[in-house]
Amino acid sequence: MNSPNGQNGSTKSVTKSTVKTAATPSRSPQEPCLRVIPLGGLHEIGKNTCVFEYGDDLMLVDAGLAFPSDGMHGVNVVLPDTAYLRENQKRIRGMIVTHGHEDHIGGIPYHLRHFNIPVIYGPRLAMSMLQGKMEEAGVTDRTTIQTVSPRDVVKVGQHFSVEFIRNTHSISDSFSLAITTPVGVVVFTGDFKFDHTPVDGEKFDIQRLAHYGEQGVLCLFSDSTNAELPGFTPPERSVFPNLDRHIANAEGRVILTTFASSTQRVAMILELAMKHGRKVALLGRSMLNVIAKARELGYMHCPDDLFVPIKQIRDLPDRETLLLMTGSQGEPLAALSRISRAEHPQVQVKTSDTIIFSASPIPGNTISVVNTIDRLMMLGAKVVYGKGEGIHVSGHGSQEDQKLMLAITRPKFFVPVHGEHRMLVAHSRTGHSMGIPADHTLIIDNGDVVELTPDSLRKGDPVKAGIELLDGSRTGIIDARVLKERQQLAEDGVITLLCTISGDGAMTAPPRVHLRGVVTTADARKLSIWSEREIGWVLENRWNQLARNTGGKAPEIDWVGVQREVELGLQRRLRRELQVDPLVICLVQPMPAGTPAYEGRAQAEPDSRPAPRVRRDVGRDAGRDAGRDPAAGRPPAPVPVGARTASTVREPVQELEPAGRTRRRRSAAS
Ligand SMILES: [Zn+2]
Ligand SMILES: [Zn+2]
Repeated sequence: MNSPNGQNGSTKSVTKSTVKTAATPSRSPQEPCLRVIPLGGLHEIGKNTCVFEYGDDLMLVDAGLAFPSDGMHGVNVVLPDTAYLRENQKRIRGMIVTHGHEDHIGGIPYHLRHFNIPVIYGPRLAMSMLQGKMEEAGVTDRTTIQTVSPRDVVKVGQHFSVEFIRNTHSISDSFSLAITTPVGVVVFTGDFKFDHTPVDGEKFDIQRLAHYGEQGVLCLFSDSTNAELPGFTPPERSVFPNLDRHIANAEGRVILTTFASSTQRVAMILELAMKHGRKVALLGRSMLNVIAKARELGYMHCPDDLFVPIKQIRDLPDRETLLLMTGSQGEPLAALSRISRAEHPQVQVKTSDTIIFSASPIPGNTISVVNTIDRLMMLGAKVVYGKGEGIHVSGHGSQEDQKLMLAITRPKFFVPVHGEHRMLVAHSRTGHSMGIPADHTLIIDNGDVVELTPDSLRKGDPVKAGIELLDGSRTGIIDARVLKERQQLAEDGVITLLCTISGDGAMTAPPRVHLRGVVTTADARKLSIWSEREIGWVLENRWNQLARNTGGKAPEIDWVGVQREVELGLQRRLRRELQVDPLVICLVQPMPAGTPAYEGRAQAEPDSRPAPRVRRDVGRDAGRDAGRDPAAGRPPAPVPVGARTASTVREPVQELEPAGRTRRRRSAAS
């Protein structure tokens, strides 16, 4: 019963193509295997992106995005690292989409900028939402979209055939997948809960899942989001009476917020608006888009005259209006957030308003949500929110839903997916409790490679996985270094250091130090001395690597390298001495070789590092350390220490003036 359903016959025929893909399989060619590689969605909620590979075929299942967490300053969108897909783009045969949530389709337009996807199969609602996103991104020519209906079977490449099995989730038109591969059938649940009274009437096709369970499922990849919660997740309909009560009791306007993509919830809200004789005004682009598409495809049924433009809402009595809007997550630019800050041009809060949060905050958004609620309450509105009100249920199954999925599919192997680590662990425990042995379960991370054969499940060598961050323009990629710099700026401020260095490697003026947003106990003199020391150390110890010998002519100097070395040195010192970690920016003003050197004051103070080098021999072989290499050429015009004029040493003018009162100046006369 647990054996794969008669697919083994095709295993031999694909051996040849497996051999060709030498870059990927870590098993021997005699032992072809299915490789399943999640690039996102594990140890997190968001950016679900999964790769199925067999032989030379690569098939993608979903490609979502995630939203930034605290500390990702200026980041709008988080995507999985797609290096692996870019490297293997020639093998991509197609993509399967399970449903239209952002954490499953949001990444597709970005990926299409980097590589083509021959065909994308997915549900009508998701595909219609995706089409809009692709048009916006200008990538419609990079793929072909094919919509599917329940029980449709599509073939992707030589080795995959995928059946779409209707499931129930918070968005309509959602699917689980039965993927038939040469090693057996894999059931990929997608996001689901067992909701026997779905608002849109589309029931979970449990019979079809059971059909595969009866035939034999090799491996189940199942949604772990609510694996820590006992019991069944309540049906979507269960919020209806509670929303009904709050709307019935509202004395003035009803302002309601939920996820635009929770089409089942939105459909109920529209039903309730009709019931209570309230006209609906929609605010927020995604709310307008999703409702338009869901109505067009028949997932929401309501007359056109239920809706009024927001401008006309003033003409209606408050008791006859319902405003449905985005902002349930406290997103700063969403309609409700702007209303809470009294910044919305058309809607101002009235004390008679009833504001209902029919959503729970995604972890990471809690603070912005509670701040929004506070502001709305301070404006005098009645705000209805929180678990106790029964106005929100999850779209993901809890432990009993997950058990039911395991019971119906009866998999030989089990891999929990779509969840943070503890959820994956909890889900695997649920699997054990149902008799799936520990060695038949894998807890995996993004980039791990699950290798499946008809009788084995194991982890192969991982592929590159990480994150790519997009900035406000949604086109520029913010790399890890930029993010680190932003975090340093926000948390520890910035120190800029201006230094002048001559072409022969001498500091020609005291460095100037500026601080912005840095809290430190060190005085100005100390900071100046440390800066001098770091510059001096770099000139003394690193100059030979940074100045390239050009055979008698002036050396080529890697000024960027000089900057980096000084920055790193000072940063390390600040961390060590003051336990602060500001961003350090060093600006070097290059001076001509022979510019008189400035005699540092840092020598006067004991230090573990050498005092600053105040001059270098002009014209020495800069590619080697002339001081240690007696074979180095004679300097054409050696100028001894001190043969410089103090007049070229500019006085610092900044707020952190180096403690120059004690510094010695050399006379030009010597
Ligand atoms: Zn979902
Ligand atoms: Zn999801």
